[in-house]
Amino acid sequence: MERREFFNACLGGLAGMNIFFTSGKRTFSIKDLKKEKEETDVLVKVLGTAQDGGLPQIGCYCKNCLRAREDQRFSRLISSLAIIDLGEKKYFILDATPDIRIQADIAFSRLALLKQGRKNFPDGILLTHAHIGHYTGLMFYGYESMSAHKLPVYCSSRMKSFLSSNGPWSQLVSLENISIHTLSMEKEFLLTPRISFTPFLVPHRNEYTDTLGFIISGDKRKLLYVPDIQSWEAWSRSIVKETRKSDVALLDGTFCSSEELPGRDLSKIGHPFIKTSLKTLKNVAEEGKTKIYFTHLNHSNLALDPEGEARKEVEEKGFGIASEGMEFFL
Ligand SMILES: [Zn+2]
Ligand SMILES: [Zn+2]
Ligand SMILES: [Zn+2]
Repeated sequence: MERREFFNACLGGLAGMNIFFTSGKRTFSIKDLKKEKEETDVLVKVLGTAQDGGLPQIGCYCKNCLRAREDQRFSRLISSLAIIDLGEKKYFILDATPDIRIQADIAFSRLALLKQGRKNFPDGILLTHAHIGHYTGLMFYGYESMSAHKLPVYCSSRMKSFLSSNGPWSQLVSLENISIHTLSMEKEFLLTPRISFTPFLVPHRNEYTDTLGFIISGDKRKLLYVPDIQSWEAWSRSIVKETRKSDVALLDGTFCSSEELPGRDLSKIGHPFIKTSLKTLKNVAEEGKTKIYFTHLNHSNLALDPEGEARKEVEEKGFGIASEGMEFFL
């Protein structure tokens, strides 16, 4: 909660002023920010922005992890989104991270339902894939914890068979704590009358399951979410076209550049570097229609430091680094 209040305090401070931000070749004012924030009942709230291991990462005492332990505002929860229908008072969680206990509170309190004495079950959980940061939070809905009843979980058919045939996840299925709905790829699906989403496959280390990205649509805007992908070139779709079609894109920013991985074989990194994405998506950022943010940041990421050169470069080129509490009305 503290981290959210801090963020809101910053936004509140900005709201009364007509401040102009210069970002690369485009300038946008607080009025533009207000325009983006107005007029819809569909809200995507960022619940976390770290790679699967979180920030700080267990057992790591690198500069970033030490800083995150000393200053909570520098720490990051694991990548996740809340998709909220303010009219229907419903919310969905995109990826069940090991931090879901805190993240579910943040989503629930956004709907002002915390003090009404009712239990906090999300209206559904959407899963991208079976790496630890993306699905293990499901365990808190099982027998040893909240013991949910038929909590809807939306995922690919490979993810469904992985969950159904491997413990401890299979117990969630056999005790009917969760009810799994298989998604058809590239088909639009309605979560509420106002919210639709389209899942698609992306290339990524697929040891246990395949990996999905999502397009989430409200009445007015679209958000593209791809937290984990091998590279933009390896994908069957064009990232340039996909970002142009969206109003907001939250993309894999696991590593900033090869500088943070000395001695590693770059061909085996398995993520597009932020520096590469800045080049690939240069024109889209300059056109200014789509706001592009990087998420899923590794604890080593050079762009984590708000005062650092890497962050400066990202922002000067018209991109952003996602942070907890960010909200996008769709
Ligand atoms: Zn991941
Ligand atoms: Zn570290
Ligand atoms: Zn992954």
